[in-house]
Amino acid sequence: MLDLSLHEIAQAVGGKLLMSPSFTPPVISSLATDSRTVHRGENSLFVALKGPVYNAHNYIPELIKKGIRAFLVSEEPEPSIDAAFIWVNDTTLALQKLAAHNRKQFSYPVIGITGSNGKTIVKEWLHDLLSDGHKIVRSPKSYNSQVGVPLSVLLMDDHFDLAIFEAGISQPGEMQHLAPVISPEIGILTNIGDAHQEFFSSLEEKLQEKLVLFTGAKKLVCRIDEDWIYQQAADFCKENKIEPIFWSIENQHTDLNFSLKKNTRQTEISGNYQGRSFSFAIPFVNDSAIENACHCAAALLALQQNPADFRETFSQLQPVAMRLELKQGINNCTIINDFYNSDLNSLSIALSVLKQQAVSAQQKKVLILSDILQTGLSKKELYSKVNSLLEEWEIDQLIGIGAEISKQRNCFSVKADLFSDYKEFEAGFNRQAFQSSAILIKGARRFRFERISGLLQQKAHQTVLEISVNALVHNLNIFRKRLRPETKIMVMVKAFSYGSGDIEVARVLQHQNVDYLAVAVADEGVRLRNAGISVPVIVMNPEQDSFQNMIDFGLEPNIYSIELLRNFAQSVSAAGIQSFAAHLKIDTGMNRLGFKSSEEISEACEFLKNSDALKIKSVFSHLAGSDEAALDSFTQSQFEKFDRAFDQISSALPYHIDRHILNSAGIERFPQKQYEMVRLGIGLYGVSLTGLPVQNMGTLKSTVSQIKTAGSDETVGYNRKGRLDSESRIAIVPIGYADGMNRKLGNRNGVAFIKGQRVPIVGNICMDMLMLDVTGTSAEVGDTVEFFGPHIPITELAEKIGTIPYEILTGISQRVKRIYLQE
Ligand SMILES: *Cc1c(COP(=O)(O)O)cnc(C)c1O
Repeated sequence: MLDLSLHEIAQAVGGKLLMSPSFTPPVISSLATDSRTVHRGENSLFVALKGPVYNAHNYIPELIKKGIRAFLVSEEPEPSIDAAFIWVNDTTLALQKLAAHNRKQFSYPVIGITGSNGKTIVKEWLHDLLSDGHKIVRSPKSYNSQVGVPLSVLLMDDHFDLAIFEAGISQPGEMQHLAPVISPEIGILTNIGDAHQEFFSSLEEKLQEKLVLFTGAKKLVCRIDEDWIYQQAADFCKENKIEPIFWSIENQHTDLNFSLKKNTRQTEISGNYQGRSFSFAIPFVNDSAIENACHCAAALLALQQNPADFRETFSQLQPVAMRLELKQGINNCTIINDFYNSDLNSLSIALSVLKQQAVSAQQKKVLILSDILQTGLSKKELYSKVNSLLEEWEIDQLIGIGAEISKQRNCFSVKADLFSDYKEFEAGFNRQAFQSSAILIKGARRFRFERISGLLQQKAHQTVLEISVNALVHNLNIFRKRLRPETKIMVMVKAFSYGSGDIEVARVLQHQNVDYLAVAVADEGVRLRNAGISVPVIVMNPEQDSFQNMIDFGLEPNIYSIELLRNFAQSVSAAGIQSFAAHLKIDTGMNRLGFKSSEEISEACEFLKNSDALKIKSVFSHLAGSDEAALDSFTQSQFEKFDRAFDQISSALPYHIDRHILNSAGIERFPQKQYEMVRLGIGLYGVSLTGLPVQNMGTLKSTVSQIKTAGSDETVGYNRKGRLDSESRIAIVPIGYADGMNRKLGNRNGVAFIKGQRVPIVGNICMDMLMLDVTGTSAEVGDTVEFFGPHIPITELAEKIGTIPYEILTGISQRVKRIYLQE
């Protein structure tokens, strides 16, 4: 834990300390950067970060009310008698300086990891491989950004004797800030791939940037099976006097050389280092796991560990679940799975997610926790700290499972049910005991708590649509980057957010400070309001019988005709309201909803001038072919008509009105027409027309229910359409056209991705099932099958059946559970 005075901090970051003379400054023991997750923070320093669209300074007054008493700021603070401020130029840089200051206090070894892939897994595996002999501090989850790295390094204290941190970069110039913060003694470069390539002119440039992390290191672990990496890394080591620990697979000329033998379920790895041979096995066969394990072995050698012990420890490596998973549970419960690990830092992060979920769904807060494997504290101290966290986050019930936690009853003041192992818990398990609760299941990997999740999960249907919250935010930012910082953004969450879930998506967007949400009909807006969404909402298709709801819930209508204008204004007046926000839609060529002629527009303006019921917030129109170059001259004519209509309206009405016409493809192709606002739709959901680096957001998945063999004289499915050339293995998967799998994908038109390869859909697709030809693959019952996602782009699927991605996304039926993943 940190233990710093505000004076020390101000000095370390070169800031000005401002506080009233009567104020007693707190000693700082922790830092916070997320206004949603700090509370009870008398000893927290809140770091007010600022980004292009986010400014945490706005939350300071609210946080002072909550009891936070110290702030690191870059805007001149309002004086307060209840808080102290450290004023700097740039709070991110100051946070990095403070972390670098903390780093210098400790002389135990620090391992620094960077590279394109595998950073978190290498870090976690090294932790598992070394945790028997060491007290290790490491980056929570994948905290590897400009902010995540300093927050990780600020966890260093003298309870530990080894640190492992990861650093990620996306742009040139970033690593120089992280290098002094981590200042590793041993470096690991995992690999160089094309992630984040958009900001680098070449892979060489990216490698050079990553190497900056290791400038002051003593040893560098690097795989050198590619010549250009070898050249660059060797030059770098020579120049900086670093001992290279370079390894390769099947290349006799390196100091550390590995050879492999793969079985069905494990890989035997033999190594040779400085003339000494050793071997071990890992329970994985895929290439990335093998590469990660070799990095770990090389790092252990760099730490002078005895390779004779590798066989024992490596055989126990487990997959790393890096993401929190939110799932529908039994009896109106929500399940939050976090099998990443159990330690105090990640527990605190997960509890903040639990609280957010429970508050928004009005559920009780339940924590199921394994023994915590973190060392450095006595058991009593450790579990007393757990108890303080439970009190802090107002947890209603703890279920502790494990030999150690079950002995600490005296540490807990909240309701606690303790079991010495999983078997004991399972024996007494009663489904009825779990009702309307948000349940966080948090266990170190070795406890295999996915079994508990299995007990609590609703098991209706094995087909799910996984939504990556990180991809959603990433895509939003990709589009934001194309806009001027002051341009407002409206996000289309109509049709269940293009199939990805209205409330969950709206919550994320609200936190990302979008300016408007747009729904198709009023009921969709009411759902958002009932879920606590307070962002302005526009209803594209306001219907007469929903006017009252719209007025009650503050949902703003799209006014597209003179009748609608009169009728809505009348309802507003009848409710005794003035200046209710509304928007005018102009038809500039789509021939869908909207005012078309200048006569209609002038009639609307006359009406508005003489009525105080409505205030027009924006005037907008919709492009018919923004995605099609052949229609560009038509699109230009739409812009011109739009400008003329706007001039007419703005000269008639005496107040400021915003304009917007661009949808996603419009933002990509005509950013000069962004006006005051844009309307983002499909781009957010991961489809870009011009090849912007958007990420896949939705993955449609199911699992294999059964596998059978059929001979060449047999057929598969209805009407015997599935012909077989030879004896074949057929996998049956519980997803059909009722789930949104279009029947045109049957009969080998569509494919699925299973066990690392594509296989065809064989025969007609049934209502609730389909069959795959998995001949020649190792597919088994229970395997995951992807229908679209990272391996099968949704655009490819759309093309195969002659439609557009929108129809595929919105066609996934409601019975398919949506699961939200957050890294
Ligand atoms: C759906 C919709 C959009 C968003 O279109 P995308 O092509 O998905 O970006 C924008 N404006 C209006 C009026 C819409 O109905």
